[in-house]
Amino acid sequence: MSIIDELTSALGPAKVALDAPTLTRYAVDQAPVLDFQLPQAVVLAESVEDVQSAVRACAAHRVPLVARGAGTGVSGGAHASKDCVVLSLERMNRILDLNPDDETAVVEAGVINADLNTAAAAHGLMYAPDPASFKMSTIGGNVATNAGGLRCAKYGVTRDSVLALDVVLADGSLIHTGHQTFKGVAGYDLTGLFVGSEGTLGIVVGITVRLKYLPQDVHTIAAFYPDFRSAAAGVLAVGKARVQPAIMELLDSGTLAQLDEIHGSDLASRGRSLLLIQTDGFGAAAEAAVIRPVLVAGGAVVTMEASAEAEQLVELRRNSRGVEVDDEYRVGEDVAVPRSRLVDYVEALESMAATHRVKLKVVAHAGDGNLHPTFWVDRVDKTVAADAMARLGAVLDESITVALAIGGTITGEHGIGQYKLRWLGLEQKEPVRELQRRIKELFDPAGILNPGKAI
Ligand SMILES: Cc1cc2nc3c(=O)[nH]c(=O)nc-3n(C[C@H](O)[C@H](O)[C@H](O)COP(=O)(O)OP(=O)(O)OC[C@H]3O[C@@H](n4cnc5c(N)ncnc54)[C@H](O)[C@@H]3O)c2cc1C
Repeated sequence: MSIIDELTSALGPAKVALDAPTLTRYAVDQAPVLDFQLPQAVVLAESVEDVQSAVRACAAHRVPLVARGAGTGVSGGAHASKDCVVLSLERMNRILDLNPDDETAVVEAGVINADLNTAAAAHGLMYAPDPASFKMSTIGGNVATNAGGLRCAKYGVTRDSVLALDVVLADGSLIHTGHQTFKGVAGYDLTGLFVGSEGTLGIVVGITVRLKYLPQDVHTIAAFYPDFRSAAAGVLAVGKARVQPAIMELLDSGTLAQLDEIHGSDLASRGRSLLLIQTDGFGAAAEAAVIRPVLVAGGAVVTMEASAEAEQLVELRRNSRGVEVDDEYRVGEDVAVPRSRLVDYVEALESMAATHRVKLKVVAHAGDGNLHPTFWVDRVDKTVAADAMARLGAVLDESITVALAIGGTITGEHGIGQYKLRWLGLEQKEPVRELQRRIKELFDPAGILNPGKAI
């Protein structure tokens, strides 16, 4: 029996898509495509048993299996591999339990981040990790990429909110890792290992998360600076004041201009860089009052935004990737540097973009030193674009090597996926990489789970 026949007979035809438009739609995520591949089939799982059936069929036929949440990843982690089956978890979107006393929730992998937050808010709670894609991306995808987000500056990344996982292993068996309690040190931390493993060690089907309190009060401060470097310095100044904002986002002039163009706002006329800060909780007003003079002393024009405008500014920041999807002409990066080196790195970015004659815009989750520079060149005929492509490649390489040289990492939150594999060896050396390969072999000896990604 062929893999397609086996999947169809195990799951029924309604859960196995074979038509060309669906195969094309599920072939890529939002990262640049280096090697386009069409999957053989897309499995639309509705239960843990469906996932197990799909994994068992792929294992028996040695067919690669690519797990997929919402496909909003920007590293190519969910790009189809050659002759693979894509396993979509998007229909597994039930919140199975929400316990306001324990402050935990149990969700299926396909639950959209925003939907969990809406459900939690009814109890005065929130699920803290909030990637800018939170209205689209799934908790399973967030777990597989260890997603960060805006309020991670205060509340930590996805790993810090995950207590336990249900995972289908490469042989189709189901395991439960972790604990329902906030604390727990029994055995090796397999939950932590699966978080950020990008679908290469197992398929996450259930997630137990810790919830946090929905802040009683929120204050938003918009600090407009005459240049990007002073705004980056503002991040350090706030840290030195020993106040912990929930959100500390940095937007450069290119980003402000693009937002104005798309949304008709007037941000660029207010300064060449924006540091957007949100304090929250019972001390929100007091913390904001400490931060404001610190920013003014650093050269900022500071406004305390009224709530409607504040919400709009934060919303604009969440949309700051724009509507364009990365491709060979335009690449959004994701590096993190120690906060003390933010200003140096911002200076280096501006200088390397000028040297390589490449366009640049930058947004940053500056509170945790995580920057998203986007580099691009004009879209011209490929026959005359070789030089521009070479310059784009060179500036990307340099942005990575400079980040590493100052103690940073090549990916703060998007993961290695497929796109960043070429730089992984610069950050992780042997024998660490060999150890990683051995872990992969232990969990997936036949190498069917998302091959060619993450490690
Ligand atoms: C506009 C925009 C803004 C973004 N902002 C942020 C941000 O602020 N912070 C951030 O961290 N990221 C951000 N991202 C990137 C992306 O949204 C995150 O990586 C997100 O976690 C991906 O979730 P997803 O459901 O779309 O997963 P997918 O893209 O479908 O998959 C991502 C990876 O996880 C694997 N995977 C998915 N589900 C499972 C599962 N159930 N079990 C095992 N493996 C699985 C896939 O194989 C793939 O390797 C942004 C993306 C966009 C388009």
